[in-house]
Parts: sequence; C-alpha cells; structure tokens
Amino acid sequence: MNVTYMSKYVFASCERTTGTILDACVESNLTDFINEEKRLSQSRQDIDTDGYYCLTAVVDGGWCKRSYGHGYNASSGVAVIIGMATKKIIFIGIRNKICLICQAIEASRIPDKNHICYKNWNGSSTGMESDIIVEGVQFLETVHHIRCTRIVADGDSNIISSIQEKISYGGRVLKVECANHAVTRFGRALDKLQRDTKRFSGKKGIEARKVFKKNMHRIICGARAIIKDHAIPINEKPTTGLISALACSLRNLPNHMFGKHDKCNSSCNEKSEPSNSDVLNVILCSGMLNAIHYELDRTLVSCCDTLLWNSNNNLAESFMNQFCKTSGGKRVDHSKAGSIVRRAKIAALSFQNPA
Ligand SMILES: [Zn+2]
Ligand SMILES: [Zn+2]
Repeated sequence: MNVTYMSKYVFASCERTTGTILDACVESNLTDFINEEKRLSQSRQDIDTDGYYCLTAVVDGGWCKRSYGHGYNASSGVAVIIGMATKKIIFIGIRNKICLICQAIEASRIPDKNHICYKNWNGSSTGMESDIIVEGVQFLETVHHIRCTRIVADGDSNIISSIQEKISYGGRVLKVECANHAVTRFGRALDKLQRDTKRFSGKKGIEARKVFKKNMHRIICGARAIIKDHAIPINEKPTTGLISALACSLRNLPNHMFGKHDKCNSSCNEKSEPSNSDVLNVILCSGMLNAIHYELDRTLVSCCDTLLWNSNNNLAESFMNQFCKTSGGKRVDHSKAGSIVRRAKIAALSFQNPA
C-alpha cells in the first residue's frame, strides 16, 4: 500500500496527546468508583471512630509472565486495588525499572535532554507489587478519607506485612484469606502427606497412603464446599458462633470422609450407614488421620474468622489476565518507555466497562 507512515516525531506527539487524554479518562473513572465505594460504606455504616470510610479491598499485582519472563528480573510491574463493594478498580500503579532514553543518555549515545521519564523504580522486581499497593492505600486515606481495613490478598504475597508496617492504621488491617488460595494450600499439604513414604512406611503406612490417595480429592472438594455453605455476606461481621460452626464442620470432614459419622450433623446422608471401621483403622493407626488434622488446622481452621466471607481475589486476577492480553504475548519493546503504562491503563478501562 502506498501510504506514507507518520514520522516518528508526529507519532511521538500523538502518543503524548492520547496519553494525556487516557490519563484523564482513567482518573475520572476511578474517582467515580471511589465515590461509589464511599457511598456504600456510608450506607452500611462502615465508618471508623476517626470518621474514615472503611472498605474491603481486593489486591493483586505482578508482571505479565508471558511478556516479561520471571518476576525477579521483570522490568515493569503493575498492581491494582479493587473495591469489594463495587467490584471496580479504585487504584492502579505501575513501576518501571528501565527508561531507554535515560540509558541512551548514560551511554552517551544521545545528548542529555528533557524527556517524559517512566523510570520510577530502583528496588527489586519482587518489591514492586507491595510498593504500589502501599502507595494506593496511602493515597486513598489522605486524598479520599478511605481506609482499607479488610484486605483480600493471595496468601503467599507480602503485601499485608508491608501494609502493617508502613501504614498508620496498619495494625488494624484485617487480612482476609482468599478461600481459593487457602484450599489450594490445604490440597498441596495433603498431597505432600500422600507422597511421604518416609513417614508412612511399612505395611500400615503403604496401605494408609493408598486409602488416603483415593479419598484426597473428595476431602479437598469437601473443604471448599463447607466454606461455601457457611459463607456470610461481606458486610456482615463474623460472630464467634459462626466461626466455631465453620471450624467444627471443617474438623469433622476427615472423619466423615473415612466413614465415621458420629459427629456429623443431620445434613450428612451417610449418618445411618454402618461405619467402615477397616478404612478408619488403617488411617488412624498409621498416624495419617492425625497428620491430616494437623494440616487442616494449620491451613484452614486457623483462618476461619475470615474464611467465613468466602472471599477470593479472582477480580484482581482477572484484571491481571486482561492486562497480559492487552500487552500481547510478545516481549514489549522497552524503547516505548510509556507503552506499558498506557497498556495497563487501557486494560484498567476495559476492566471497568466490560464489553
Ligand atoms: Zn528517562
Ligand atoms: Zn457424615
């Protein structure tokens, strides 16, 4: 096609113009949802003694794995804070370790010049995510009079500890366990037991592992179902009664699965069946039942107080997926220093207004 492509100067100028428009769109869109979160907080009287609006925030972040390789050397990171009540993004932040123009200046390939510099991070790649979230939580408090007093985060992340350390009200922030991640951790722990040939050896041990392996998947699904059955709405406060009811159901799960129904409630439809003492004996004598109980307590029962909400960070994860799609499968050319910033903001807008 005989079309003259615009010069790189015209292109750069267009990019700057669209960049400014995009920034304004994102800012006004996020402010709308921040105000809506405040309104909802007010309507459920979720306001602390200092007069701040309180809310539940879902947070996540990272880098696009397909585009940027491994986390420890990623050159850009993105993270978002999503309001649980609106299910919309209320803060987005981006960290860049590299600016190609700065690099060219340092290498004396071009003369020193004023430029829009996107380099805003000198720390480690793994620290980007929590740095963004801490900035967002501070911004919401100082500018919008909002406190994120309950935070849903992937259990493996260090976001919560950063917040507790760096935010004035950090000590009062409740870490809400993501139910999916908690059950996944439980599943991983069980799988490790099932493979532990050293701890469960000999005839009894082998038999116990075999019986357990057959039932493991049912136990994991059972745990997920119990959490779902006991779930309360996010604006309701967990009472000690509700918390212990969930803990009881979870603790009874292994017994029920191995045919011991004496502590099951009326919803158990195997209650009247004779208990299968052979299976139970194998599991009991090998020490397997004890081990299962230990893992159950550690991974699930210990966080019953927040598992009650049956929350998950799917929303934030789905934004991250959207972002990866927008950034394309290829490694992004870093000479377009601002491109990652724009792509993240475009992904945010399309998350806010799904097609
Ligand atoms: Zn620069
Ligand atoms: Zn039962």
